[in-house]
Amino acid sequence: MLTRLRARILAIGLFVTTVAACTVGVWHYGYGQALDQLAKQGRADLALAADRLTGQLRRYRELAVLMADHPRLAAGGDGADALLQEAADKTGALGMLYAGPSGEVLAQAGIGPDNLRGAAHFQRAMNGALGSAQARIGAGGPRAHLFAAPRFTADGAVAGALVVLADIAELEWDWIGGTPPVFFTQEAGRVFISNRAELLDWRQSGAGLHPPQGPAPAFTARRTGGHELWSMDWGDYLPANALHVARPLPVIGMTGHALMDTAPSQWVAGLQASVFAALCLAFGAVILQITERRRALARANAQLETRVAERTAKLSAANRALRREVSERQEAEAALKKAQDDLVQAGKLSALGQISAGISHELNQPLMAIRQFADNGAQFVQAGKTDKAGSNLARISALAARMARIISNLRAFARQESEPVTRVDITAVIDQALELSETRLRRDGVTIRWDRPDHPVWVQGGEVRLGQVLVNLFSNAADAMAQSADKRIEITLHPGDPVVVAVRDTGPGIAEPEKIFDPFYSTKEVGGAEGMGLGLSISYGLVQSFGGEIRGRNAEGGGAVFLVELEAAPAPEAAA
Ligand code: ADP
Repeated sequence: MLTRLRARILAIGLFVTTVAACTVGVWHYGYGQALDQLAKQGRADLALAADRLTGQLRRYRELAVLMADHPRLAAGGDGADALLQEAADKTGALGMLYAGPSGEVLAQAGIGPDNLRGAAHFQRAMNGALGSAQARIGAGGPRAHLFAAPRFTADGAVAGALVVLADIAELEWDWIGGTPPVFFTQEAGRVFISNRAELLDWRQSGAGLHPPQGPAPAFTARRTGGHELWSMDWGDYLPANALHVARPLPVIGMTGHALMDTAPSQWVAGLQASVFAALCLAFGAVILQITERRRALARANAQLETRVAERTAKLSAANRALRREVSERQEAEAALKKAQDDLVQAGKLSALGQISAGISHELNQPLMAIRQFADNGAQFVQAGKTDKAGSNLARISALAARMARIISNLRAFARQESEPVTRVDITAVIDQALELSETRLRRDGVTIRWDRPDHPVWVQGGEVRLGQVLVNLFSNAADAMAQSADKRIEITLHPGDPVVVAVRDTGPGIAEPEKIFDPFYSTKEVGGAEGMGLGLSISYGLVQSFGGEIRGRNAEGGGAVFLVELEAAPAPEAAA
């Protein structure tokens, strides 16, 4: 986590540093471009200023050339002075003078030097060329640009020279304070003309300028991309930082200079760099935000996945536990079923025990009779009374058939039924149960009333198990009526759904009806032939397994009534 945070801070730091470096680059590039533009502009401005100056001076040069040959000049005297004065007044020249070959002034108007001997421009004129010079007239006097034009005689010799003084201050007048600051230096490096009066008479030293007297103000110069940049503190009317552009002007023997303020270029470059930096930072912020959001999403996803995995693991564990429980329950159910089956079998065997005494008596009787009939039959055969012997044999056969039926019923009862629940005719089951219990009931003197329908009544159940339930009910009824004077069992069948079999006796009734289906509940003598207390609880389980119900209560007129309700099953024809 800490490492990730550190990596993120490092990435942001790296990004900001890169943006800063690029911003500096953009600033430099922009500034360079702006300086190029500024230099171009400066050169154009300087050319304009120089053209203007040379154009203005040209008037005076031409004046000197044209006036030099004026005939009144040759005459000299007052006429010449008046001529020069008139011309000076009309042209605004500072002064005009005509000098002879030795330099002595012959005619003059306005101000000018007293003697021109030795002056370079005069010498040049005396040589027949046009001379020019710049100079202050007198110490601290006005600045003038001088043009000296030769005056030729008829034979072509130079007779003298006309000098015209152009007033520089006059030329500068409507030019002062304009932008950019421009100045023109003489060959010696002195500022002679400028639209910034404070620079006049400053001298060039090295790259910059310094005033004629006093300490030089702060100044530095450097070169950038082929441009010369000056930083200076030369007053309110001169820029603090400027691009210096210079251009030699051989026509007037001076060099022109312009100082282009670099502040706007810096501002433009700064603006470009700021926009670039702002865009980069905004872009970076957007990227950062997107990355952060993506990272947060990934984190949330991972958390969700972990939670889902945990939950899935928990659910799987619960599922396994549930499955284990289900299989345990199934095992328990199977064990219970087995125990129930064993109990049913035990109950059946106990019932068999009870009825076996009667059965053996029942079988013994026909056996004795068979023996008797057989003996008699043999004697009849010997006496030749075959018809009587035949009747004995017929009786023997009938008795044997009866015994076979009793034995088959017993076998059926003892069989452990594993058949599933099927359709069973309940009337036949009641018949078989009665037949099984017949000996016992007859012995006890119990009469049976059985309202038997003449058609089968179909129910859902198991034949053997239903028989077991009914045998148990008849046996219990017989037990209950042991002391009763009137011993009767009434069996009624109510068709419908459910089909209800009612077994009613004329005994004393049930002592504790709510307990009779409890296992091992018995009011019978302990240790007796009966009295295990399992008969009804087993019957209850069996009837329930068919989807039916068994109930026992005391009947209104006395005695007990047991109702076995069974699900009706469709008749075979209907099912087919
Ligand atoms: P057992 O017959 O071994 O006692 P059962 O479960 O068959 O066990 O019967 C439980 C008890 O229900 C009997 O002991 C008896 O008290 C009562 N009982 C059952 N049938 C009748 C009946 N027809 N009349 C009165 N009481 C009965």
